[in-house]
Amino acid sequence: IEQTAVQNDKLAILGKIAAAIAHEIRNPLTSIRGFIQLLRPHLVQLGKEEYARIILAEIDRANDIIFEFLNSSKPTAPLTSQVPISSLLREVVLLIESDALMRGCTIDLEDEHESATKVVAIDAKQIKQVILNMMRNALEAIREIDHLRKGRIAISSRVEGRYVAICIQDNGAGMDERTLERLFDPFFTTKDEGTGLGLSVSYRIIRNHGGSIEVDSVKGEWTEFIIRLPLVSRDSIAPQPYQV
Ligand code: ADP
Ligand code: MG
Repeated sequence: IEQTAVQNDKLAILGKIAAAIAHEIRNPLTSIRGFIQLLRPHLVQLGKEEYARIILAEIDRANDIIFEFLNSSKPTAPLTSQVPISSLLREVVLLIESDALMRGCTIDLEDEHESATKVVAIDAKQIKQVILNMMRNALEAIREIDHLRKGRIAISSRVEGRYVAICIQDNGAGMDERTLERLFDPFFTTKDEGTGLGLSVSYRIIRNHGGSIEVDSVKGEWTEFIIRLPLVSRDSIAPQPYQV
């Protein structure tokens, strides 16, 4: 609990700083990106296409960091929209499907269960961000081993008492003990191009929703994340249009 409090404090401070400067950094980055793209044909002519590629990739990385910071700094919106789990999961799968297919990775979505029609009261945008973070991590873990076996991500949901459990499994690279201990720490990453922010931000969002995240993994074999969110009855809160 102590460690969690420290972690939350850290994130809150980082978030405030980030919110103050993010826009100021983002704007020049956007114009740099535009000009590099205009220069690209000239760089190609000079045989320096690789430079353009690296510059663009690094700008995108900087943008990713800012984006994830911004998300972590925003306060949680009032939890008033009633969202059916099934539509939420389907929307996230749509967002990442083409990326996955391009890498020959299949995504199995199981929403036949009773839970499919169950409703949670959430900030849909934030929860989608969490699931997307985890699916992206799954894809990246699969990329590490994709020459060895066919990649598969399975996403499903089930009711567990007063909670709905959303389960995201992959048969990617898996994690060792050291990684499992630290994966929710801000800036912890094992990737060359990682921000190490995805899971720390996700953790905060789920906690703010009164939920929890469980993780299990076997190095070299598979990983499973389980997100638990409190269920609500359909008439316990005023209906709000569900907007994406
Ligand atoms: P990033 O993706 O930028 O590295 P995250 O906070 O999203 O940051 O993840 C932190 C670390 O947790 C990753 O660098 C990786 O080592 C590990 N990790 C997260 N999800 C998975 C997964 N599905 N399979 C294997 N490792 C994972
Ligand atoms: Mg990530």
